[in-house]
Amino acid sequence: MARIKRILRVHAAGDRVRKISKAIAEGMEISILNADVSPDSLTAEIAVTTQDPDHLKDFVETLKEYGLEVKIVEKTLTKDDDLCLRCTACRAVCPVDAIVVTEDMLVEVDDEKCIACASCVEACPTGALRVERVEGDPT
Ligand code: SF4
Ligand code: SF4
Repeated sequence: MARIKRILRVHAAGDRVRKISKAIAEGMEISILNADVSPDSLTAEIAVTTQDPDHLKDFVETLKEYGLEVKIVEKTLTKDDDLCLRCTACRAVCPVDAIVVTEDMLVEVDDEKCIACASCVEACPTGALRVERVEGDPT
């Protein structure tokens, strides 16, 4: 069965803030990409992976039942080969080993592994990498 990867943007305010960790804990394996926390609001981007599309759907529904605002974030990492120096600085910072060096010493991104966290974008000395993002409602 294919591996499904989605990035969700979740937002909670007021007394729903304390519920977010419980909702996540009851859901599935996730990685927190970033979080903006204040006493009365929380916004976080989380990467979820599953092999079951129904599992993902149930997870989103669970978050909504807790009163959380949920958006699907489509992120794509693009690389300008003309700007790439093959320095591998991007590879050194990637948390999921999504940057690979081919036998021809080319630096490539494994889209299946990439969670579009943008760590490599910040590490790249030439601006060769860029994350493009689109937000939409989960279906
Ligand atoms: S955006 Fe870059 S650092 Fe982040 S997972 Fe993808 S390849 Fe790795
Ligand atoms: S950090 Fe930038 S220049 Fe260096 S290998 Fe990665 S994409 Fe190429």
